[in-house]
Amino acid sequence: MRVVICGGGIIGAATAYYLAARGIGATIVERTALAAAASGKSGGFLARDWCEGTPVAPLARRSFDLHAELANALGGGRWGYRALDTYAGADPGGAAAGEPQLAWIAPQVRLEGRIGTPATTRQVHPRRLTEALAEAACARGTRIVTATVAGIATQDGAVRGVDLADGQRLPADKVVVAMGPWSILLAGSLPLPAVYGIKGHSLVFDTGDQVPPEALFLEAREAGGGVETPEIFPRPDGTTYICALSSDAPLPVDPAAVDGDEGAFDRLHAICCQLSPVLARAKVLARQACHRPVAVDGLPLIGPVPGVEGAYLATAHSVWGILNGPATGEAMAALLVDEAPAVNLAAFDPGRLRPLDLSEITTR
Ligand SMILES: Cc1cc2nc3c(=O)[nH]c(=O)nc-3n(C[C@H](O)[C@H](O)[C@H](O)COP(=O)(O)OP(=O)(O)OC[C@H]3O[C@@H](n4cnc5c(N)ncnc54)[C@H](O)[C@@H]3O)c2cc1C
Repeated sequence: MRVVICGGGIIGAATAYYLAARGIGATIVERTALAAAASGKSGGFLARDWCEGTPVAPLARRSFDLHAELANALGGGRWGYRALDTYAGADPGGAAAGEPQLAWIAPQVRLEGRIGTPATTRQVHPRRLTEALAEAACARGTRIVTATVAGIATQDGAVRGVDLADGQRLPADKVVVAMGPWSILLAGSLPLPAVYGIKGHSLVFDTGDQVPPEALFLEAREAGGGVETPEIFPRPDGTTYICALSSDAPLPVDPAAVDGDEGAFDRLHAICCQLSPVLARAKVLARQACHRPVAVDGLPLIGPVPGVEGAYLATAHSVWGILNGPATGEAMAALLVDEAPAVNLAAFDPGRLRPLDLSEITTR
């Protein structure tokens, strides 16, 4: 069986990994580089039970456990897998008062409670995890092709191959579309529901050993009066990752062209300096922007594309793509070899949403 996976983010890499474990070496086609987009620039925060009460809960629980399994099997230290405490809090702005509640946080930041313990909240470095999954898959026969997917070739209602922008066709019996928000670019060849990209900005600081394993979800008042919700993830490699400032800025067709909104990195830096004297002193190692993929109903899209034999979609994981990557890859691999997936995928069936009508699209 010839399987081509379009997109080398966490979803594509995890699908290749679990497929390789079943003896099938797929071809991953990636336009830029593995984890070039959100899968390399996200927080990598994992929570076991934060999706409870939603249809995503079973996928999240399964995936949280698979993260631990992968760390044991492949050496999770390579991608900074570790357990950590997680707190919620708020910075009302204004003058600092009293002692800080966490040594590395400014005194005016008030913690409202511990919202995760090492048993329920963990983290990974998402790019390194994606690369490790792809590397393990390649050791079992997967290959990675650097090329731009331009379309899916079909005949008589079945997949025949993947068309590349350079005019080549990769023959395929089954195709997995896992291009994150760019999956929608294939709506001209497959009946795909809409997928949007919501942008987020992040900074990575060199904080050495000054920040313990404490993740923070904060509300912070900016100097201009607006309220932002920075998420702060210290990593075991001596860096600290902070993301905030979502926007609906348009998605460029080329993932390499994603950049920050005007002034966004300066605003985020000012917020970080206000929240922590450690961050205020630290060197900024990276300024990043990326788009998380989202469907109209907010749920992932995982399963066969209706009406086209051999076509599958795996995307729209929104803010939980790194958490849910392993269970999604495992489920996709099962579907591809006609096994029952470990998690019931009914809520994520791409067929629940109507296909995008290309005549409705306006470009600016
Ligand atoms: C700021 C931010 C912070 C986040 N933090 C977390 C977190 O802490 N925990 C968590 O679980 N989730 C988090 N997420 C969500 C998570 O990052 C995403 O859900 C996930 O990375 C999506 O993975 P993906 O593989 O579907 O897509 P992507 O990572 O977007 O991968 C798609 C790939 O397709 C490639 N591609 C695009 N077009 C083409 C083409 N034409 N041909 C070939 N390849 C192409 C791209 O280059 C890219 O590598 C965060 C998201 C953002 C934006």
